[in-house]
This record gives sequence, C-alpha cells and structure tokens, in this order.
Amino acid sequence: MPVPCLCLKSCFFNALHQTLTHSTGWKRKPTGPRFFMISTLTLVNWLAFVEAHPHDFTIQYPARREYFIQNFRCEPAPRTSEWLSDLDQLLLYLHIPFCEAKCYYCNFAVDVNQSEDFHRKYVDALLRELDSHADWLPNCEIAGVDIGGGTPTMLATAELRRIARAVKPLLKKSARPFPFSIETTPRIAAEELEKLQILHDEGVDRVSLGVQSFNAITLASVNRFRQIAQTDIAMANLRRTGFKRVNLDIIFGLPNQTLEDWKYDLDQIIALDPDSITTYDCLYRGKGRALTKRTVILPTPETYGALYDLAFEKLYLAGWKTTYGSVNFSKHHNETGTSACFEGRLLDGMPYLGLGNYASSLRGNHWSFNTYSASDYMTNIRTGSNPCAYFYDLPAAESQAKYILYSLNYGFVDESRFMRRFGVKLTETFAEELGHAINAGWMECCDNRWQVKLGQFKNMHAIRSLFYPEQARKWLMALQEPML
Ligand code: SF4
Repeated sequence: MPVPCLCLKSCFFNALHQTLTHSTGWKRKPTGPRFFMISTLTLVNWLAFVEAHPHDFTIQYPARREYFIQNFRCEPAPRTSEWLSDLDQLLLYLHIPFCEAKCYYCNFAVDVNQSEDFHRKYVDALLRELDSHADWLPNCEIAGVDIGGGTPTMLATAELRRIARAVKPLLKKSARPFPFSIETTPRIAAEELEKLQILHDEGVDRVSLGVQSFNAITLASVNRFRQIAQTDIAMANLRRTGFKRVNLDIIFGLPNQTLEDWKYDLDQIIALDPDSITTYDCLYRGKGRALTKRTVILPTPETYGALYDLAFEKLYLAGWKTTYGSVNFSKHHNETGTSACFEGRLLDGMPYLGLGNYASSLRGNHWSFNTYSASDYMTNIRTGSNPCAYFYDLPAAESQAKYILYSLNYGFVDESRFMRRFGVKLTETFAEELGHAINAGWMECCDNRWQVKLGQFKNMHAIRSLFYPEQARKWLMALQEPML
C-alpha cells in the first residue's frame, strides 16, 4: 500500500496542532508523580499481547461477549421497566433488524427475511413493547431517539408511519436540536421518495445514509451491490425532502482497499456535501465474522492509521472538523455529527432503553439485551414473556472501560463527564494507564480532555486496551482459542 508523504503529513499536523492550540487556548497539562508507573511489567506484558492481536481491540467492549456472560450475567433477567422506570431522562433506541442481505463485516442482529407480513408482525411486537412502558416513559425527558438496525427503511411506508407516530410524542421534552434520527441506504433513498417524505412529515430530523464505499469491487467483496449510481440521487432526495441533518457513512480498512481507493471515496463523499461524515474503521474482530473468514490479509494498525490520517487531513481541509481520533466529522460548529441518541450514549454515558430484538438497555452498571432472533423476540412479546435475555451487573471497572472506549470514538475522554458518570476522578482511577499513554506519545491532556495525539490513530488498539480491567486482561490472555 502506498504511504503518504510523511513530511507533508507531519507539516500538516504541526500546522493544524498549532492552529487548534492557539484558537482554543489549550494547554498541555503538566504530568507529575501521580503518573509514576507502578506495575510496568504487567502493563508491558498486556501491551505485548495486544500488539499480537490488534484487531480484537475495537470500540466494542468487551472484546468477547462470553467474558460478560461468564462473569457478570444475572438470571433471571428482570424486565427493563423494573430498573429504568424511575428515571427522569433517557434515550430511546428502536431496532429494525431487516436488511436486503447481510454485509460480510456486519455483526449486528440482522434478519434478511423479506416478507412484508413478517415485517408487519415485527412492528406489531415492537410497538407492543413500547406500549408496555406507557405508564412511565411519557413522563421522562427522552433526549434522543434512534431508529436503527438493520435497515429500518426496508419496512413498508405504512409501518414506518406507525413507528414514527408512536415515537414523535415522546420527544416533546427533548432539548436537543435534532433528536429524531433514522438510518437508510442509497437504494431506498433513491427509489422510495415517499418513505422519506413520510419520515420527514412525522418528525424525523436526521437521516444517516450507509454509503460505505464508491468502489464496486470493494462493495461486492463485502456483499453490497447496486448502490453507487444511486448515491447522488439519494442525496438529492434527502435534501429535497428537507431533513435538517444528513450524515453519510463510509468505511476504511475494507478488504484490499488502498490509499488511492480511499482518497477517491473521500473525494466523492466531499462532493456530496453532507452535514456530517462518519468514517468507520472496518472491523475484523472475531474469527466467526464472515469478512474475517474471507479476508486473506487483514489491514495492519499502520494501514488503519494511514487511512484515518488521510481522512482527517482531507476532511479537515474541506471543512468537516473533529477532534483528532474521532471518526465523526461535522461541518457545523459545535456539533459532533452523530445522532442525539448516539452522542448521549457514547459521550455522556446516559441511560437508554432499547426496543426490538437484541436491543440493549443501560443504566449505570446495569446492561441488558433482548433475545437475539427476531422470531423469538416476536414470540416473547406475543405471549407476554420478558423479551430481555441477558442482564449484566457490571463492576465499576467494567463500566468504566466500556464508557472510555465509547468516548474514544470521539477522540477523547473528558474528565468532567467521567466524574459525572462514575463519581471518581479519571486521573486517579487510570493513573498508570494515562501515564503510559503520555510517555508513549499516544495521548495528551488539554483542558481536562484526554485526547489521542495527532498521528496516533495507528495505536488506537493499544490506547483502547489500556483501559481494560485486570480481570478482562487475564481472561483474554487465558483464552484457549487464539484471538485474531
Ligand atoms: S446494511 Fe447495515 S445493518 Fe444491514 S447487514 Fe449491512 S452493515 Fe449490517
């Protein structure tokens, strides 16, 4: 893979760093004895393990679901209303699992059943689950709602209208500017304008369009087809319909993707002029993932770093800004570009209620998942059984790791938010780890925000791993089945 000119890149980063530092008044936080390393050997051993398995250290924590199942699962799982219903404020997520086909990199709970009757019955179940919270949910401030999946707009127009109408009244108290968001695809946004119109009329503010790549061969290699020619029309339709915010998703680190391919994708996405752009790093975590099985040579951390750095440079210069390390770029000042629900969950650690198959809910150290398959979920709802299948009571260290990895999706961890969420100081809880991040040149602290340093995206796997609790480290290192 060609490597960008290091001189040019470092010149760009130096200039950018100075601009940011001067314009925001950031100061480097002095590091003192509190960052003295107290168990270097253990950390060194752990980081050596991480370097041997970089693809396992993604934004998703834990690296293996079995770790939580074996150690922190409580049975029987309580109903979500039992531990959420006294909240004043929360976020809401509705899961629609249906897709035309499953992309090989995807590990969401997806169902490729195309039957409209099945879809309608699923929506019946979803709205029934929503209705089961009717005695407390309308009293809450619902800060944001995401309808995700899957591909929610696979549903028929009438089903989309039913869902949007049920959700809209719940958003009356939200103080967020664009609280109602949904995901769609280029094909649907290009061909089914009526669906867009209904969603807009029923109050959806923001649409996220999964473009992923403009390279037909790359798309075919991950089981996506027929969309490149439709992306322009899709974007025009979304604008014409009048959504307040349009986000485009693209992926880097796809099989055989070169820097030239990625540069082309970035040029195309810039030309479409969305409000925000999300650049996902393609995940190969887990040997069972279809993409991992099919890909002979996985991208190295250096490749991810080079691809991300190119995106950061090009998007920054084109007007889409973010904190270095964040995969979310926005051209609007003071906006992350992500949905209100996503931002509340990942950055603020807010509690949320998830509805639908395999939807998760969270409050403090309690985290739950509904049953995995859409059919089982529908049966549970129809028979009045509890749809929640997994309920975890997490130690604080596990919740903290999960929160920090999510926050790093935005390129930083904020000391105040961490204190608000956990009631302890970030710098005291992770003194050794933050000390190592500084000494290794991976992170820096500016105005109480611990940020990924310019040019260090290539070490994101190691940065994330720093916040793994001792128990998780030992569990992973003792795995019989080798990690990636
Ligand atoms: S369209 Fe999205 S949800 Fe559906 S399979 Fe592809 S990545 Fe997964």
